[in-house]
Order: sequence, then structure tokens, then C-alpha cells
Amino acid sequence: MSVRVRIAPSPTGDPHVGTAYVALFNAALARQRGGQFVLRIEATDRGRYVANSEQQIFDTLHWLGLDWDEGPDKGGPRGPYRQSERLPLYQAAARQLVELGYAYYCWCTPERLEEMRAEQMRNKRPPGYDRQCLGLTRDERARLPGFDDSPVIRMRVPDRDVPLTFDDMIRGPTNAPMPDDQVILKKDGYPTYHLAVVVDDHEMGITHVLRAEEWISSMPKQLLLYQFFGWQPPAFAHLPLLRNPDRSKISKRKNPAARLLWFQEEGFLPEALVNFLALQGWSMSDGREIFSFDDVVANFDVERFSLVGPIFDVDKLDWMNGEYIQRLSDAEFLDRAQAFLPGPGQESALRLLAPHLKTRVKRLKEVCDQVEFLYQGKLDLERDLLHKQGSAGGSPSALDALLAAEAALDHVAADGFSESAVEAALHAEQAKREWKPRPFLMPIRVAISGKTQTPPLFPMLAALGRERTLVRLRDAIALLSEPD
Ligand code: GLU
Repeated sequence: MSVRVRIAPSPTGDPHVGTAYVALFNAALARQRGGQFVLRIEATDRGRYVANSEQQIFDTLHWLGLDWDEGPDKGGPRGPYRQSERLPLYQAAARQLVELGYAYYCWCTPERLEEMRAEQMRNKRPPGYDRQCLGLTRDERARLPGFDDSPVIRMRVPDRDVPLTFDDMIRGPTNAPMPDDQVILKKDGYPTYHLAVVVDDHEMGITHVLRAEEWISSMPKQLLLYQFFGWQPPAFAHLPLLRNPDRSKISKRKNPAARLLWFQEEGFLPEALVNFLALQGWSMSDGREIFSFDDVVANFDVERFSLVGPIFDVDKLDWMNGEYIQRLSDAEFLDRAQAFLPGPGQESALRLLAPHLKTRVKRLKEVCDQVEFLYQGKLDLERDLLHKQGSAGGSPSALDALLAAEAALDHVAADGFSESAVEAALHAEQAKREWKPRPFLMPIRVAISGKTQTPPLFPMLAALGRERTLVRLRDAIALLSEPD
């Protein structure tokens, strides 16, 4: 049997990290089995629809290298792939269930449903629709209070033999709660999620549904719908939920990492994020931590999911991203870092710094701060900060250090102003004066960058070049020489 899997993200805002997580394993299963991976846009909730969200879903998944075979942007034999373009299908399906006696019209107003719920709460009765409309014609119902002219359609949950247990590919036999008579078609002619997902998975020939754990409770409703229609359900695997450090479901409100765009904004490499996501509740049989999407494809097995919801550990992701960054060639690194640079130009300086930056940054965003000194004109130095870098009470003072550095570097020719030449010149000066390295070198670092945390000093000087280095040293000397 050929495998067909899908993801069905809702375009309700910028994409959630869970969409990438679920997409990753669906894509891996499809690739491994030579099947198809379908992207379906699930927009049944018009109130929550966000116009550019669909494009962001496409873009972020492409950024991660997770591509689909059929979808709204690609077409395919089982389209259309946007639920908003499939309304007649759901409407026909809902009417068919009414005709078969598996569903019924409900004309209750929102106010009546609200009162019913309040009453159930007061009497500590289980919540659920009280079947006021079941078995009534429109005219019969219209004579009762709380009547709304445009009806919804509800599925009729049988009193017995509801499938409350199902066989999950990861969890084995799994229980879910008894549903009430769910709305399947809304007043506006849109389906609810439960009807749409069943109709679409069936119509699109989906064989395996890999989705988040939070949908387990929907299984009885969805399995009932499959029974009503007389369709064979796909196999189901409910993946563990990604969790915040407090173990709650990862959410945009509590955790910036819930937003997929956040990883782009911070400068995580897509291949590092894919690797990290693959380790959330899943693992390689050999316990390897660094691996590619192709490795997931080669080794994917649903049995290797753990049932404990993984805590989304951004520190670990930082470590992993650092590992991936270090493995890039210098040219590749600079190419990836391009979007995070303070401005254009400085190519040769950046090439000199690249090997040092690669080992220092965990996120590409940090590159900006590290190379800012290359893009600045005259620095706005803090006199106190500069002063503090010299030896307190001893030798050299910051001013002595800068005077000595300026004289030493003035002797290095502009075309030989290399990392090793400046290092040799400064070391000779330091040795001659018998100074400790720190009070000698730190004032230089601050004088050329305005910062105490920077890449290593000698490549920075070489990257800045002779002329700009001397100007900055002289500016700093002038600042320290001003009367208090
Ligand atoms: N729209 C649902 C989601 O975004 C799809 C759930 C499912 O895969 O059935 O999670």
C-alpha cells in the first residue's frame, strides 16, 4: 500500500513550531516509503483567519527543507487543498448524514446554548448538547423558545457502542472521552474541524495520520464519522506535545520559541532546527545527537517516540546550532550571516574574522554585535570604560597602553598589517615593557570597538586595517588626555 500522509495547519497567525515538528515526521515517513506528503490548509474558522499566514507556512517549511508533493501552491490529483475551496463537499457530506439519520439540524440560538451550559454547571451535570432539536421539524422547533432561523448540523452520537478506544501506532490501545452531539456544519456553511478532517483525509486517500497528542480526545467523534460514512479510517499516531519548561503545552504567549519565525529572526540554521525537532520525543536507534533530515528518513520508525512530552530546551538548541555553525565553511557561514550584518561591504574584513566568529556565536544574530566595529565611523567611546581597562594603580594605565600600542602599530606597514604582524608588534612591545597582557590589550580592544566582549583582538585589528586602527587609537588617546 502506498503511503499518503498530510499536515493540515490552520492559517491563524504566524506558523507554530508544532507545525514544523509534525511536518518533519510526516515528510520523513512519506520519503522513506516512497509515498506522498500532502499539505492542506485547514481554514474552517473564518474568524481566526490571517491573510498572510498561509504564505508564511509555505515559506517557513521550505526554509526548513521540508517539501510536500501536493498542496494549494502545487496542485495535485486530490485537490483543491484549501478547505475554504471545498465547501460543497462538506455540505453534501453533512446532508448525507442527516438523510441517513446520523446527524440532525439544530436551530438553538447561542443564548439558549449558553443558558443550557450554565444550567448544567449549576446542577453539576456533564456538559453537552441536550438534544432539544433532535427529532423536531423546523416548524415544531420554531414554536419553542431560543429558535434561530439558520440552523447548524449536529452529528448524533449513538447511546451505545461509541468507539472510545482506538489503536494508536505509538501508544497502543488508547482511551478517549465520550463526545456529545458535535456541530459538524456551521450556520455559515463552513464545516467544523471534525467533519472537514474526516472528509478530507478520506477524499485525499490519507493512509497515516501523524499529528499532535492534543487530538486524541477527538478520536471518538472522528471514528464515528468514519463509521457513519462507511469509510475505512487511516492509521493514527499522536505525537508527544512540545512543552514549555513548566510542562504546559508550548504556546506563543509563554514562549517565543513557539513561533517558527522566531528561529529565523534569531539566526538558527534550518538544518540545526530540524535536527533539534527530530530529537523532541524521538531518537535515533544508535543515540546519535547530530544528524540530518536524510538520516531521519533512513531511520524513521514510529516506535521510537517516547510518550513523555519533551521540554523544549532552547539552551540545547543553542549548543546544537553552534555545532552546525562551526561545521560551515567560512564562505558558507558569511553567506548565511549576510542578513544579520549591520550593513553592506567589509567583505575582506569579514573573511578574516569568519573563523573566529564561527566558534563564538550560537545564533547568527549575534554576529551583528561582534562585527559592528567594522561598520562604525568615529566611535562614541565612554571615557570611564576605557580608563578602567588599564591597570588599577599599577602599570600600564589605559593611556600608557594606548600610546605604546599606537607607536608599535605605526611601524607595521599597511600592506603587511596581518594578524600575525600586529600580534608580533604588540607582543614585542608588551615584553619590552614587562606589562601583563590584560591591562595592555583590553584598552586597545575597547578603543577600536567600544566593547569589552569581542572576537579575538589580533584578527580584529587586521580586519580593521592600519589606517582605521591608528585613527581609533588616536581618538581614544585624545579622549584620555582631556583634562578631567
Ligand atoms: N488544523 C489542525 C492543526 O493545526 C489539524 C489537526 C489534524 O492534523 O487533524 O493542528
